[in-house]
Amino acid sequence: MPEQSAESSVVRRGFGRRRFLELAGTASAAAVITTGLNMGLMKVPSLFAAGGHDTEALVLSCMDFRLVNETAFLFNEHGLTNKYDQIILAGATLGVATDKYPAWAETFWNHLDLAIKLHGVKRVIAVDHRDCGAYKLVYGKDFGKLPEEETQIHTKVMTDFRDQVKKKQPNVEVELLLMWLDGHVQPIGGASTAASPAAAPAAPSGRH
Ligand SMILES: [Zn+2]
Repeated sequence: MPEQSAESSVVRRGFGRRRFLELAGTASAAAVITTGLNMGLMKVPSLFAAGGHDTEALVLSCMDFRLVNETAFLFNEHGLTNKYDQIILAGATLGVATDKYPAWAETFWNHLDLAIKLHGVKRVIAVDHRDCGAYKLVYGKDFGKLPEEETQIHTKVMTDFRDQVKKKQPNVEVELLLMWLDGHVQPIGGASTAASPAAAPAAPSGRH
């Protein structure tokens, strides 16, 4: 759910993705793209692992209008263009975890079943984000102003979510990512449980 925070989004965006996308269409595109990849996007090695030819993922993300483009950008940059199904719930993993809207959890589980049956999905990639209005609504607290507490609450909700997925679908791997408002992400809950040899050491977490 949208929860506008003007100051933080101005500060964090800087010379970020939007500027990059504006420039990408110009004559200097090649030069910009070369540096653009290092400008703000943190590579998530395990996402590349998810992009193997037959591997498909189900992405769970929040409805927040500020990060729709950033979410697609993240997966495109990791070679996952058109290689994932997507389900959107306010709060992402919180939308599944909360008792407030039980129909959402049911909807998610039904879609996961379907994604496995129809597309052989082997991985769930959940993308929560900072300054999320759904977290504010459910917990009655503005975590956008409390980044450390915010990391903790997302870590709890997301790892519980991962446990639930593993319980219902033991063969499905779960990747947890927390997105900042500038579109970069930090892995949550340690390295992916994937047994994939491509699994790399956990990328640096914390604030950037
Ligand atoms: Zn949200």
